[in-house]
Amino acid sequence: MVDKEYQAEWIVRAQKIAHLGIWDQDPVSNKLWWSDETFKIIGLEPQSVAPSFELFLQSVHPDDRNDIIRQTDLSLKSDDNPYNIEYRIILPDESERIIHEEALIERDAKGSPTKITGIIQDITERRRAEEALQLKEEQLRRSQKMESVGILAGGIAHEFNNLLYIISGTAELLLLDARPEDQENLEGIFGATQRGADLVKKLLAFSRKSDYNLYVTSLNAEIRKVMSMLDRVIPRMIDVELDLAENLLSIKSDIGQIEQIVMNLCLNARDAMPEGGMLYIKTENGVIDESFLDKHPGAKSLKTGSCVIMSIADTGCGMDKKTMENIFDPFFTTKDIGKGTGLGLSVIYGIIEGHDGYVLCESEPGSGTTFNIYFPAAEDVQA
Ligand code: ADP
Ligand code: MG
Repeated sequence: MVDKEYQAEWIVRAQKIAHLGIWDQDPVSNKLWWSDETFKIIGLEPQSVAPSFELFLQSVHPDDRNDIIRQTDLSLKSDDNPYNIEYRIILPDESERIIHEEALIERDAKGSPTKITGIIQDITERRRAEEALQLKEEQLRRSQKMESVGILAGGIAHEFNNLLYIISGTAELLLLDARPEDQENLEGIFGATQRGADLVKKLLAFSRKSDYNLYVTSLNAEIRKVMSMLDRVIPRMIDVELDLAENLLSIKSDIGQIEQIVMNLCLNARDAMPEGGMLYIKTENGVIDESFLDKHPGAKSLKTGSCVIMSIADTGCGMDKKTMENIFDPFFTTKDIGKGTGLGLSVIYGIIEGHDGYVLCESEPGSGTTFNIYFPAAEDVQA
């Protein structure tokens, strides 16, 4: 048998382990009692000051204070509104914690509150772990979706390509001895097959059906090459800032593919900044470790080891979450007809996968967009 005293000690220890504080309030005199753990959770020395609602509110995140007051009022009025809330507190060292709080209100026969007992629990760690898991699952789902869309797009592109061969071949044959009045129509057909072939090329790039010939390349040199071409298409009100690491490791890439990535990302950044802004292009060496791979289950081709990171960031319109979920899908565009094809990022996605790399996008509406691209380093030599 465990005696009462030992049980009491147990409860104290259990509260400590669970970061669980208890409080009591007399609703008539408003007098409050806090357990040691309650003090600790809101960042105070146990029993160092007289507990008060005001003192408690001071530690709550300013944006959450009204919610607590409203919920307290509602719960006191009726049992239909049980006190069960979540809010943030700011500790003296300015760190933010997530708190879950529940209370039980005892009432007399007339329904007036006679005693309120509450528990307050720091659930920061649990919440962060849940969020990390959710993020991981979302990434995994997205990468599986891209995989199946890739197979579909690749299959269609392949069949479509065979048809195009027949159409363009036949048009070419007919052109050889066409009557002058048919010439223009046949050339129209032939021209359309060329545009079709271009589309097929992009879909194949997305579905990673293209074959790559990888050579040791300097990413910085590729970026500089693109920048000289971009002069013409980036308007003056956009300032471009290059921050290319001097000791950047080499990567292995196919000729022209890096150019495509940089070009497409810069053009998207331009489109996101019709009124001008900043375009940052940065390269640096990095390391992919187990924890990175664990956090990013979508990075299937990436392996641990040295990598080269290219970041392309803009101060443009940014994107909401819903848009961000679809940006790599083929034909997804938010631009007007004729302005966007929705293939730019799909092609980038395919190329990066084909280089055993990984692309991450961060964006907020109104706060710009950053694309981080991870390439495995070719070897531990400097370019
Ligand atoms: P397109 O440029 O033809 O629309 P993309 O595949 O290049 O196709 O991009 C798909 C969509 O992703 C864009 O229509 C836009 O909504 C969004 N997007 C891409 N880059 C950015 C960016 N830098 N800022 C804001 N939105 C972007
Ligand atoms: Mg684009």
